[in-house]
Amino acid sequence: MGLRNRWVIGNWKMNGSLAGNAALLGAVAAAPSGVGKLGVCVPFPYLGQAQSALAGGAVVWGGQDVSEHASGAYTGQVSAAMLVEFGASLVLVGHSERRQYNAETSDLVARKASAALNAGVTPVICVGETLAERDAGRAEAVVGQQLQACTDVLQRSQGAAIVAYEPVWAIGTGKTATPAEAQAMHAFIRATLRVLGAEADATSILYGGSVKAGNARELFSQADIDGGLIGGASLVATDFLAIAAA
Ligand code: PEP
Repeated sequence: MGLRNRWVIGNWKMNGSLAGNAALLGAVAAAPSGVGKLGVCVPFPYLGQAQSALAGGAVVWGGQDVSEHASGAYTGQVSAAMLVEFGASLVLVGHSERRQYNAETSDLVARKASAALNAGVTPVICVGETLAERDAGRAEAVVGQQLQACTDVLQRSQGAAIVAYEPVWAIGTGKTATPAEAQAMHAFIRATLRVLGAEADATSILYGGSVKAGNARELFSQADIDGGLIGGASLVATDFLAIAAA
């Protein structure tokens, strides 16, 4: 455990406004330092605002997606180098909402993670099964395949890439995996990382899916859960900071 960073990372999704963000970022910037690291992944237009509010402090910031390409005729996409210009040190790749609404495949997710890593931005590789897949007894197979696609980047990152286990059925639904269910999958993920030749014991594996102040402590105290990726609750400063304190 001592090998791994503990993280609480907020995913604002497509939420925010300049005025609202100012208050939220101000509160997050003033968070007391704890045992873990804090980060926020904001919509692209707000990266500059996050940089202004958080630069020089302990809280890091990043994007919610990144292009697999370095530059060129890719309208609407944002490169890893552009994230770096705004001081971003994190980026989500393969969030289930992007896999679902943008038809992102695991191979594309791997190329995005690789582009981030090559630019010096830590990819937060999101994996997780749907309810139908879990009910069919395929949860581990699905997560295993999603990880396997990222083998190269997981090996090259030497434990720096972060994995976020986010069961799709728990995201934004108010349903949370029980601590035992989450721990079982995290242990499977760590074992899979080992098989894939990644630095399994050094890799932070975060849980995401309806984490709240009330359930964070028990989830985060599981042996293989190294913190959380927080959606809805990251939009309310008191909730996000209470989760971070857990
Ligand atoms: C997420 O979007 O990554 C997430 C975990 O959302 P929520 O916390 O709202 O379930």
